[in-house]
Amino acid sequence: MPCNTATADAELAPLQLERALQLLTHSGRPLPAGEPGSAAWMQGLIDALVELSSRDALTGLANRRSFELALAREVDRVARSGEPALLLALDVDHFKRVNDGHGHAAGDQVLRTVASALQDSVRPMDLVARIGGEEFAIILPNCHAAFGATVAERIRRRVECTPVAVTPSGPSIAVTISVGGAFAPQWVRSTPTLWIERADQQLYKAKAHGRNRVQMEAAAISLVSAAERSALFDSTFSEGLE
Ligand code: GH3
Ligand code: MG
Ligand code: MG
Repeated sequence: MPCNTATADAELAPLQLERALQLLTHSGRPLPAGEPGSAAWMQGLIDALVELSSRDALTGLANRRSFELALAREVDRVARSGEPALLLALDVDHFKRVNDGHGHAAGDQVLRTVASALQDSVRPMDLVARIGGEEFAIILPNCHAAFGATVAERIRRRVECTPVAVTPSGPSIAVTISVGGAFAPQWVRSTPTLWIERADQQLYKAKAHGRNRVQMEAAAISLVSAAERSALFDSTFSEGLE
């Protein structure tokens, strides 16, 4: 007896359009334009859901899922193009004290303010993400080793100079971040996990050395020659050897 599981699954699983529209409305996003059910409307709905599932609900930054995707793409790009790229791991200092001293809502306000300070201090091509409770990460494509520390320091200063109004009438509170940075090894295929670990190691050092500071890994100098790179990445060349 033929068994068409695809058809059976489709029959069993109705599209959750109502729920999808509720999610969009709840997030404050506009509903798709056009005739409901039309191809253009469905495309608009899918696009809006993709956008929604890529964002952190509290801060509006990229969430961990889209950060990991972007990081994997960047690892690939650096391995193939040799362009330098910097990963920054950032963590709010003594954030628990904010929650304990001013309440969870104040903590949330700090996270939103830090998020926009980070976003405002980088280029549009850089990806700023919230990857954990009070942990952020920034991918800076095409960032040369000579400028990495300056950029990271500018970001740190921007947060330090942005006091957070946690209540409409009360005093603002000062917030600082610690920053760890690591460059992707050029021409060499690394992994997103290793890259994050290296940036995290620098972040731990920044914490250990007193917080509110930047700690950068010494820039990796690629010793791979253009000919070696060609052997590593040019499939025509490797096929010729077989
Ligand atoms: P350190 O300087 O070593 O980073 O200390 P810390 O206090 O920032 O770090 P710790 O990891 O001890 O505390 C992080 C706190 O972040 C604990 C947790 O309750 C809080 N937190 C995590 N997610 C959220 C959130 O979404 N909102 C708020 N308000 N607090 C959060
Ligand atoms: Mg912290
Ligand atoms: Mg933390």
